[in-house]
Amino acid sequence: MEPSIRVGLGYDLHRWEAGGPLILGGVEIAHERHLAGHSDADALLHAVTDAVLGAAGEGDIGELFPDTDPDNRGKDSSEMLGEAMSRVARRGWRVINLDCVVQTQRPKLLPFREAIRANLATLLDVPLDRVWIKAKTGEGVGSIGREEALAVQCVVLLAKDA
Ligand code: MG
Repeated sequence: MEPSIRVGLGYDLHRWEAGGPLILGGVEIAHERHLAGHSDADALLHAVTDAVLGAAGEGDIGELFPDTDPDNRGKDSSEMLGEAMSRVARRGWRVINLDCVVQTQRPKLLPFREAIRANLATLLDVPLDRVWIKAKTGEGVGSIGREEALAVQCVVLLAKDA
């Protein structure tokens, strides 16, 4: 019997604001600026949450956690991804792998990459080799290059036994 597989696409962008630290992929990174947002503004976890939900046809992050709800102010984005994972698990889906591109002029992500991968692997309940992250600068142009914003793109593959 053929297993069911579904691919999900995630994207998010947040503006930079003065004052650190940066929270990305659930990891606190020493930096002189942070991402602005209603929740903890973790653009990476938001993109992953949307990818997981989209793959399973279970809605999107804005629907589940509206920014008009005071309960979501300053919310830990790990909780949002946890809720998304519970929803898709109830439908029998499990994560096969996740691949992400973080677009940011600064800071360099390499020193934090393994900590972020490990945290994502835990949140998605997969071995470490199923999660990858790479960083791209904005080459000094556009909103990424001018350090006005950080953006994330990711794809996730889900499977369940048919
Ligand atoms: Mg967001």
